[in-house]
Amino acid sequence: MGIVVQKYGGSSVADAAGVKRVAQRIVNTKKQGHDVVVVVSAMGDTTDELIDLANEVSPLPPARELDMLLTAGERISMAVLAMAIQMLGYEARSFTGSQAGVITDAEHGKAKIIDVRPGRILGAVDDGAIAIVAGFQGVSQTTKDITTLGRGGSDTTAVALAVALDAEVCEIYSDVDGIFTADPRIEPRARKIPRISYEETLEMAAQGAKILHLRCVEYARRYDMPIHVRSSFSEKEGTWVVKAEDVAQESTMESAIITGVAHDRSQAKITVVGVPDKVGEAAAIFRAISDAQINIDMIVQNVSAASTGLTDISFTLPRGEGQTAMAALARLQDTVGYERLGYDDSVGKVSIVGAGMSTSPGISARFFEALSEAGVNIEMISTSEIRVSVVVAETQVESAVNAAHSAFDLGTDEVEAVVYGGTGR
Ligand code: ASP
Ligand code: MG
Repeated sequence: MGIVVQKYGGSSVADAAGVKRVAQRIVNTKKQGHDVVVVVSAMGDTTDELIDLANEVSPLPPARELDMLLTAGERISMAVLAMAIQMLGYEARSFTGSQAGVITDAEHGKAKIIDVRPGRILGAVDDGAIAIVAGFQGVSQTTKDITTLGRGGSDTTAVALAVALDAEVCEIYSDVDGIFTADPRIEPRARKIPRISYEETLEMAAQGAKILHLRCVEYARRYDMPIHVRSSFSEKEGTWVVKAEDVAQESTMESAIITGVAHDRSQAKITVVGVPDKVGEAAAIFRAISDAQINIDMIVQNVSAASTGLTDISFTLPRGEGQTAMAALARLQDTVGYERLGYDDSVGKVSIVGAGMSTSPGISARFFEALSEAGVNIEMISTSEIRVSVVVAETQVESAVNAAHSAFDLGTDEVEAVVYGGTGR
């Protein structure tokens, strides 16, 4: 049997009891004859607590030192987990990201993995030991400094290692039983999805579903590494994230057009009101946003009113970047000559995702009808080949999710979704 990579999130190792429970699971997998390589996140809310600590000392902690501090969280859990496994009579060795050969670029706080050289991990596995790797961290190829991959990055560590080790599967454990047709916290009738494609998972994750780190899914798709998302609190089979062909084979019985509904409450909307309708205005606006290193999402530009020759441009962006964007745009008022700026951070985005929609007409109509029956007003719309998203008032996000979920018959009457730990990670 080959190597299995298992990743345990912070909620699975929140305290000593959790660490012991996870150690037992790992040993059970080892007993079945697999070689096991484990990636672990920081215990419970450790990362948030470390960030709070840094902010108490410095309003803008230097990125290099912040990364050094945050990586300590995963070091604690990896060492404690190795101890717990040794208590069960099995050999375990822990490794930092750097020791495990996770090589990144030098972008502190959002480093990208550029190579994995798992020599020491393979050495441990060859010796019959269970290797435990600290998630979410690596070492920069150029500066040799310790880096982190961004919040939630342990998923990406796990997939990258699984690829480098040519593992059979990358299992990602959290406190929910898999990927659901909607967030079970707001949709009680949510159903577990047995198999889902990389593409649909990417859309769901990008649209705010807190299932997997986006980059981990991109990585898995690129190298075709199957991911099994499951709970460390139950023995249930979870959700398999696989290539689209493998989903199609399984679901010949009922091929659902819509796979799931995602929502996102982390966005804000900016409207540039009264933009003169002439060449180069949109370019100037979005150049300023881009120069401020802000990633935007939806853009809507209206046709200008014939009487005034003015148009409005709205776009969404992460709420945390709202003030930076407003400041960047304010500096443009004289050159662009717009009338004023509007800012709204009580918006939310609701998306339906499904590979089947590219071949079935009427999906948007059904979605918008359901929203209208639920009294939800649509502020913006955007689509991809396998997704339709709307921006609505934040107070209407929940009704919009429920309406879409029932319009596409995604629900079940049996209670399937249990959130064991409470965080979803
Ligand atoms: N501990 C880090 C975080 O909370 C990484 C992770 O959990 O994946 O963001
Ligand atoms: Mg965490």
